Amino acid sequence: MTATSTDTTLVAHWIDGAATSVDEARTAPVFNPATGREIARVALADQAEIDAAVSAAVTAQEAWGALSLGKRAAVLFAFRELLASHADELARIISREHGKVVSDARGEVARGLEVVEYACGLPQLMKGELSDEAATGIEVFTTREPLGVVVGITPFNFPAMVPLWMSPMAIATGNAFILKPSERDPSAANVLARLWQQAGLPDGVFSVLHGDKDAVTALIEHPDVAAVSFVGSTPIARSVHAAATAAGKRVQALGGAKNHGVILADADLEDAADHLTAAAFGSAGERCMALSVAVVAEEIADELVALLAERARAVKVAPGDQPDSDMGPVITAAAKERIEGLIGSAEREGADLVVDGRGLQVEGHEEGFFVGPTLIDKVSTEHEVYREEVFGPVLDIVRVADLDEAIAVVNANPYGNGTAIFTGSGAAAREYRRRVKVGMVGVNVPIPVPVAWHSFGGWKDSLFGDSPIYGPEGVSFYTRPKVTTQRWPARRVAASFHFSGDSDK
Ligand code: NAD
Repeated sequence: MTATSTDTTLVAHWIDGAATSVDEARTAPVFNPATGREIARVALADQAEIDAAVSAAVTAQEAWGALSLGKRAAVLFAFRELLASHADELARIISREHGKVVSDARGEVARGLEVVEYACGLPQLMKGELSDEAATGIEVFTTREPLGVVVGITPFNFPAMVPLWMSPMAIATGNAFILKPSERDPSAANVLARLWQQAGLPDGVFSVLHGDKDAVTALIEHPDVAAVSFVGSTPIARSVHAAATAAGKRVQALGGAKNHGVILADADLEDAADHLTAAAFGSAGERCMALSVAVVAEEIADELVALLAERARAVKVAPGDQPDSDMGPVITAAAKERIEGLIGSAEREGADLVVDGRGLQVEGHEEGFFVGPTLIDKVSTEHEVYREEVFGPVLDIVRVADLDEAIAVVNANPYGNGTAIFTGSGAAAREYRRRVKVGMVGVNVPIPVPVAWHSFGGWKDSLFGDSPIYGPEGVSFYTRPKVTTQRWPARRVAASFHFSGDSDK
């Protein structure tokens, strides 16, 4: 999995069931964001390695896709057990490279595990449809077949969960899966590869190719890659979608977000403040479903802002492996600089900086990439801090008169990933749910990530392509239908030279 040279930990590719050797000249640094120090170097795939991984996947997929449903399901069940028993190991690795607190990293493994459990039901999921006696003596049935070799390109913020949104679904449905994880926290992917192998998955069905933009481009263009699943920022999702479509590939590309929580005057304000705080600052705001904007009814705004400020100041910011830490650092020095720049822009543009997280020093970790929780009131939709996806621990307050104005604000935003409404009124919640142009809605639930047997996907600039990810939509994305029309004549029937229509039935 991870090769070690004299003084540097090297994170290798995993191709055809084994770690490859690493050419140190083609590597990128991996940091511990809490210390700011380089802790490893990750391999960057070249064309020969990409060709080797795809070729092994093509061969492995032929046998895997032909294996009985029961035998495939047995591997999924074994993988489920291994993943559950290695959750702590994975969580520590994630925390070290990503910076999130260990309990949160355990949570992302748990959400990934849910998708594996759903995929364990593959005999049921792969069941087709049959029309008996569609015409006299004829039955028509639909079966679903795997696509072949599929690729998953994943972001830094969920180095285990997002690969687990994709790979169990792709593999259960009979495909070979090549993972191209984020180069910023690559090690969790290699643990997953090892666990798949231990579960009995044939070599070549799950591979890991590390790399950057060049690896992504080469994988999209490879003639033996049938489909691309992408999760990451909106500009890259848009370009991956365009490139994969141009190359004739099936593609789902999930992008960035700006998630609004609407707080109406009749909400339980203490409850809303607790949930907004956790949803805005948990994982340092580096969640695609983080609530980064609170759209607040003017009449309760002062009271809610006071409650939020109190909570923001109480958040314990410390390295993710400290048991009492609520929130760790952000991913890179560049991310810290960008987030602090956006906070500065809000101040310059006239918003009210209630809690300022810039310049936070964590004792003993002065070189770490820490930004404190930041609360900005009286933000306008014209402000840069509102228009950009900050992807840091920053909560904007946008004040509105009523529900209609709140809906107008949310619907005017180009993103449409998740949203939440906090209210005591069922009628208002229903109205919001029906009128809001967002793919996932929470009612008094701040981060409405769907359970594994529903599917995950935003609208507008948060998803390019037609298909949400995992759940029933995942089965459909990773398979294509084949429709068979058959008859087994007991006696000879006259053949016809014309197309059969209603009158022939
Ligand atoms: P990113 O777009 O920078 O990178 C995502 C992946 O694309 C990585 O594997 C990266 O190596 C690769 N990549 C980077 N530049 C590329 C390029 N020019 N061409 C092709 N591939 C390239 O995203 P990130 O910073 O790793 O992750 C954070 C972003 O992901 C945020 O915008 C967040 O909202 C989004 N995200 C969305 C969801 C969702 O479900 N919608 C989930 C998680 C994260």
